[in-house]
Amino acid sequence: MKLVLATHNQGKVRELTKMLHKRAGTSEPIEVISLENYPKAPEVVEDRQTYLENAVKKASVIAEYTGHLTLADDAGLEVEALNGAPGIHSKRWAGDDATDAIRIAKLLQALDGIPNRRARFVAAIAVVHPDSDPLTKNARTFLNIGNRVLGQGVLGVCEGHILHAPKGESGFGYDPIFVPDGYEQTFAELGENIKNKISHRAKALQQALALL
Ligand code: IMP
Repeated sequence: MKLVLATHNQGKVRELTKMLHKRAGTSEPIEVISLENYPKAPEVVEDRQTYLENAVKKASVIAEYTGHLTLADDAGLEVEALNGAPGIHSKRWAGDDATDAIRIAKLLQALDGIPNRRARFVAAIAVVHPDSDPLTKNARTFLNIGNRVLGQGVLGVCEGHILHAPKGESGFGYDPIFVPDGYEQTFAELGENIKNKISHRAKALQQALALL
């Protein structure tokens, strides 16, 4: 089975590919194709109100373009003391061209002097078949009619807290400042083997695998 990953984020491609290949031994093998193979693929604007709607939109556009079953995710970091920010705006929160280091610096500054460091990562994953009814490619319709359609979405959450300074080199995004519950190191210190077992994306993917 061919499966396109609708993301340019190489950190996500690495994580999802490893997780999908681990699963592949037990059922029909999955040939993972990244967007690197489609340099002219359309840019999908993440302008929806929820992670799930953005994931469905990305997967739908790319499934239509590539003609293959497509998996997309949309994720964000929700910080309790910031009323859930940066949340769905996690990527552009610090500006369109911000680097991970700039995003982290902005978040640490926003939390400066605030004792409540609780936060959670949330990930939505959608899987869309290119032949699904055009109606199902509309995220709102999709969400209303739930499991009856080929394009489906699931959510995964990972609770934890934010450190006062970055630690660790692995992963991407806010990983160096996020310590998941039950651990004393950041995602960036724990490394991909542990992150891929407990992360928001791993939890969403476990459910999404049932859709494949
Ligand atoms: P996206 O819109 O799903 O690409 O994610 C938005 C932003 O959330 C990314 O640019 C990252 O900064 C952050 N993010 C999403 N998932 C993770 C993760 O697993 N670790 C760290 N940061 C993440």
